[in-house]
Amino acid sequence: MTDMKQQRYDVVIVGGGAAGLSGALTLARARRSVLVIDAEEPRNAPASHVHNYLGRESTPPGELLAIGRGEVAGYGGEIVEGRVASAERLPGEGARGFRVVTEDGSTVEARRLLVTTGLVDELPPVPGLAERWGREVLHCPYCHGREVADRPVGVLSVGPLAVHQALMWRQWTDDVTLFRHTGPEPTDEEYEQLAARGVAVVDGEVTGLEVTDDRFTGVRLAGGRVVPREALVIQARFTARSAVLESLGLVPVAQEMGGEVIGTYIPTDPFGATEVPGVWAAGNVTRLTEQVIGAAAAGLMAASAINGDLIGEDTRDAVEARRRG
Ligand SMILES: Cc1cc2nc3c(=O)[nH]c(=O)nc-3n(C[C@H](O)[C@H](O)[C@H](O)COP(=O)(O)OP(=O)(O)OC[C@H]3O[C@@H](n4cnc5c(N)ncnc54)[C@H](O)[C@@H]3O)c2cc1C
Repeated sequence: MTDMKQQRYDVVIVGGGAAGLSGALTLARARRSVLVIDAEEPRNAPASHVHNYLGRESTPPGELLAIGRGEVAGYGGEIVEGRVASAERLPGEGARGFRVVTEDGSTVEARRLLVTTGLVDELPPVPGLAERWGREVLHCPYCHGREVADRPVGVLSVGPLAVHQALMWRQWTDDVTLFRHTGPEPTDEEYEQLAARGVAVVDGEVTGLEVTDDRFTGVRLAGGRVVPREALVIQARFTARSAVLESLGLVPVAQEMGGEVIGTYIPTDPFGATEVPGVWAAGNVTRLTEQVIGAAAAGLMAASAINGDLIGEDTRDAVEARRRG
């Protein structure tokens, strides 16, 4: 990371996905000096299109980010490629702000930090899942449901939420099969719900995926039976990419849904302020279920809170200077 133009910025943003770029746009338009450091691995990179982003429905993820980068640069915001290793409060009495250290050893200072590093989807350990992730191995019906409407869809059970997932995806197709795999036995009530909605239940462990001509075609069970499917819904564990926030003393907490831990996140207030003064977070690192448009909105919200905080500091400094004469 050598190509930034200055050594100290009003705000350094760690992560340049939807949340980070939206925060950068807001801050650059507010005439703040802003640097985005981005490792360029957005979560939805494997997907062909971004859905449910009003005004840009079905845009390729890379294209949406390229548009955003251009908008940030158009207002003087800087974006550099790099991976932040850690951040720390500047040492010394009277020192204000933070030092950010990248993995290549470069450093840069900032009055405030906005961390938008996203999350990691940890997939169940079934061979072949990772290769089809975001293509036919799916998790989010709002991202992919319309694209597999009326097609044969499988749901891989690894926990109690699988029945909920099967009933959910039934909204998009009437051909849903729930693979029991390592998940718990559905309750009598759940079996009744699944039967009433026409969801088939298949016992046995899933050992792999059938792929023909680079297309997922079915689910292979222990014993060799193959059940033809065109998409497989899984439950990933959502782990916040929180290393930079942890280096500042923050601790990720478990997120529960339906009595199950679905991942970890860094808590913030509604405006993205963390428990460390001067440090904000937005997007998937703090809200695991946030979609692209929500991540962008959270980046805007945090940026406006940061700008307000800086205005307070600027005003206090001005009053002190005036009193000193
Ligand atoms: C397969 C798939 C398909 C999806 N499809 C859709 C969809 O159609 N519509 C929708 O609304 N949502 C979709 N999503 C969800 C979407 O990906 C997220 O809502 C969105 O990416 C969250 O934005 P973010 O800015 O919080 O994180 P990200 O987009 O993940 O951006 C985080 C950025 O921070 C960078 N970073 C991480 N750590 C560091 C570090 N230490 N230093 C520097 N940079 C760092 C990363 O490289 C990345 O560029 C999908 C998700 C997946 C997995």
